[in-house]
Amino acid sequence: MSEIALRIEDVGMRFGGLWALSEVSFDVQRGSVLGLIGPNGSGKTTLMNVISGVYKPTTGAVTYGGKRIADVPTHDVCHLGIARTFQIVKPFASLSVRENVAVGAMYGRHSDQRSTRGSFERAEELLEIVGLAGVADRPASELTIPDRKRLEVAKALALDPDVLLLDEVMAGLNATEVDEALELLRTVNARGVTLIVVEHLMKAIVSISTSIVVLAEGRKIAEGAPADVLGSPQVIEAYLGS
Ligand code: ADP
Repeated sequence: MSEIALRIEDVGMRFGGLWALSEVSFDVQRGSVLGLIGPNGSGKTTLMNVISGVYKPTTGAVTYGGKRIADVPTHDVCHLGIARTFQIVKPFASLSVRENVAVGAMYGRHSDQRSTRGSFERAEELLEIVGLAGVADRPASELTIPDRKRLEVAKALALDPDVLLLDEVMAGLNATEVDEALELLRTVNARGVTLIVVEHLMKAIVSISTSIVVLAEGRKIAEGAPADVLGSPQVIEAYLGS
């Protein structure tokens, strides 16, 4: 049953004199939720950028379905089936919530099989899933912070990804909103989308992740089931030391 979606092999990323990532290797199982954690500056965002093809790694490779992400032009990575949300949420402010999602559906993986009307229908379905159907006609600029995060997830889902990278979608949410966001991610995962989740909120990560990878100073220091990883002395030290 365990099938590998993404393989991260010996990935290193150098910025000038700094190795933001060194010798990072792990596999992401298809259909799983991988939590990526680590202290500030440990390389999480850099790794998300390597996986989504924004950065080409200095060493090693990320492969997806046997293809090296670095060999694919950045704007085509979403056509492979990998989509991401961004930490800084930037919707098209003057477009309606519905139009924001429909734009994604027009440019996504299955866009060639979809008419404009089909894209709007897909947008409608996604807004229902993320709980924004009631505000579909509003300009995106009027959304509350939690609703902007939902919109960000809907826009990424509009690309029809097999793998969705989520960069701190729960930051700035209150406890109830975090629970709602977790529920949404579970719904998305139950539809077969593999998730890679970067989040500072440890409780949220533990409750959603199938497995966790811990980075510290650009290196993988632990990997495994949430309970095992968080009990590891090395992980505790990395956090206390930060
Ligand atoms: P995290 O997401 O875990 O907080 P980052 O991946 O943002 O960590 O950063 C890892 C390290 O790489 C940090 O020391 C950061 O300053 C550095 N870094 C990240 N992006 C760049 C960049 N584009 N140029 C130079 N240094 C960078």
